[in-house]
Amino acid sequence: MSQYAKAAILVRQNTDLVIDEIKLPDKLGVGQVIVKLDYSGICGSQIGEIKGVKGHDPYLPHLLGHEGSGSITAIGPGVTTVRIGDKVVLHWRKGNGIEAKPPKYGWGKKIINAGLVTTFNTHAVISENRVTTVPRDLDSKAAALFGCAITTGFGVIVNDAELKIGDNIVVLGAGGVGLNVIQGAKLAGANKIVAVDLFDNRLEISKKFGANVTINAKICKDLKSSIVAAMADLNIDIIVDNTGSPEMIKIAYELVKSNGKVILVGVPKKGAETSIYTLPLHFGKKLHGSEGGSTSPEVDIPKYSSLLQAGKLEYNALISSVRPLDDVNDAIRDMVSGKESGRILLKLD
Ligand SMILES: [Zn+2]
Repeated sequence: MSQYAKAAILVRQNTDLVIDEIKLPDKLGVGQVIVKLDYSGICGSQIGEIKGVKGHDPYLPHLLGHEGSGSITAIGPGVTTVRIGDKVVLHWRKGNGIEAKPPKYGWGKKIINAGLVTTFNTHAVISENRVTTVPRDLDSKAAALFGCAITTGFGVIVNDAELKIGDNIVVLGAGGVGLNVIQGAKLAGANKIVAVDLFDNRLEISKKFGANVTINAKICKDLKSSIVAAMADLNIDIIVDNTGSPEMIKIAYELVKSNGKVILVGVPKKGAETSIYTLPLHFGKKLHGSEGGSTSPEVDIPKYSSLLQAGKLEYNALISSVRPLDDVNDAIRDMVSGKESGRILLKLD
């Protein structure tokens, strides 16, 4: 079983990814499957890995990406939850099946590391519990977004924030996950939804996803008073921070109502700290870090697939462009600069 894949490889932090051919392992281990990728999303986590926000990376050189769609072309020993030919979502949250060992790829004489799921490569060895089968006729672009953007956004609303009908919510940061936090809030019955971002193009899209009021934090004089004004006299039940900015987290903590919830989705740079007065925490204010919206892939992905097929889930406006793997470095630059408003998908077939 000698097989090659084209991949975008992170060789050094803060440099362009190297696009090259890599060799798949000769034999699949227990619980491993091979997926031929259709699409991969580019998410803030990968930009964080490239920029080294968590500090030193002992796994370099390695592959990247954690949301994608594709089909199973081979299965290793012990695999029972997927079959060859299945259309699957590739996700980073743990689902059903075996947790396999992470694969190693060959690159000339070098070894390339990879996690249990990677998606910036045309063919990938994935752990069984990082793939979930979806209907064959499900749109492959939307399926890729079920790997992270949509499932995280919805999970933040229903699992972390436990939003109730009529709750008012502020969403800080309207990127791929943020837009789905907004969409999730709307689907779950929120009253007022305020979206805050630095880019007008994203704020425009956030209206399509359900935001009633938008605020451009770059041009408004005082963000705190702008949010208060946008809410009129309504209490803020929930604030979701997708930015990871210490100042934003502080603002969220101070503005949410006395027994409201602040959900942290964005992760600050290593060493960046927020200072808060903790007394309100004793009286019911909650500050909670989300881990992927506590999504259960095998439960949530089938639900959201049905919602999509029933026409109740918006995703097209989320995809700002579809590009070949060769363009990945430009795509990442355009995401960081804000030129691209939503999710960029890499087309891998
Ligand atoms: Zn992600």
